[in-house]
Amino acid sequence: QNKQHFRPTKAIIDLQAIKQNICHLKEHLKPNVQIVAVVKANAYGHGDVEVARAAIEAGASMLAVATPEEALHIRKHFPTTDVLILGYSPSSFAEVAANENIILTVYSKDWVQQVCTQSNSSKPLKLHIKIDTGMGRIGVTSIETLMDLYNEINKSSNLVVDGIFTHFATADEEDDSYFNKQVTMFQQFIATLPKKPRIVHAANTATMLIKDPQLQFDAVRFGISMYGLAPSAYVKTKLPFPLQSAFSLETELIEVKQVEAGQSIGYGATFTATESSYIGTLPIGYADGLIRKFSGQHVLIDGKRVPIVGRICMDQCMILLPIAYNIGEKVTLIGKQKDEEITMDEWASKVDTINYEIPCIITSRVPRVYY
Ligand code: PLP
Repeated sequence: QNKQHFRPTKAIIDLQAIKQNICHLKEHLKPNVQIVAVVKANAYGHGDVEVARAAIEAGASMLAVATPEEALHIRKHFPTTDVLILGYSPSSFAEVAANENIILTVYSKDWVQQVCTQSNSSKPLKLHIKIDTGMGRIGVTSIETLMDLYNEINKSSNLVVDGIFTHFATADEEDDSYFNKQVTMFQQFIATLPKKPRIVHAANTATMLIKDPQLQFDAVRFGISMYGLAPSAYVKTKLPFPLQSAFSLETELIEVKQVEAGQSIGYGATFTATESSYIGTLPIGYADGLIRKFSGQHVLIDGKRVPIVGRICMDQCMILLPIAYNIGEKVTLIGKQKDEEITMDEWASKVDTINYEIPCIITSRVPRVYY
């Protein structure tokens, strides 16, 4: 249910687009491969509960998050769906995880020993062993450590090796050499286990879209393209199905003024009109995630591109208008108007980053509105 919002700045999330992206993906999966919807970081800034619900309706069977807090938030709304924490959980969280049926990532024997001494839960704690095949982030890096860990886990009747997984560092690149080394290492590690766990998983979006379908294993972790974005420019040229972007950012003109040549705009007076012009003010600023580096970025009004001028303020910014539009005229910062579109990729390249980062930096002050 959308709440009432008074400030006109909002992120509009198209849940149908998310469902469409999942449905398209399903057509490219081998039979019985599960979809893990990656809804960490508030579903890449889109809203975790709403995205998770849409993803489950479209066929996802597990939700992946990054932290214990994210997992508990999801669990409150989805009492029965499998929830996996992909990142670090302190051993002190294990008892809560067991009681809440939250699956944890494990990669350290010491951690397992701490869990065994700290947790008083009588419920089983499901674990997915993380193999570091080349990300260098978290995970087991040798077969000896894997077996040590595996044996330690199996000493406890309450701990269950439910899964094993790895994460690829270069799946979105054309050059396969590093990727293939990671694959080979992962396969060796899996082959070492005396018994295959319930779920082996490795594929992120790029892997499932452009690599060998065998790498789908038992489940794929669908992140960025569930939100309609390509993981890289290279993957974008190879997409097996079209992606529908789910995130638009809109606001309205709250002030329009005419300025004469020589008049300046904003802090530092960094923009000076060279001719008689119209300046519009928008109720969005760097506290909303429109960081100052976006000065000069285009926005859409009446289907036309116009630039943000001067320095972006904390709560507002100014745009250069071709005519005196009315107060309340819709302005699109990310999304479509008539034949024009401003994409997440355009924003990302403006501030020299990747599209993943853009919805994450739109702060919680910007309400997410769903349709
Ligand atoms: N799996 C892990 C361990 C991740 O850290 C991430 C994202 O950072 C994903 C899967 C999803 O990746 P993508 O958004 O590229 O699909």
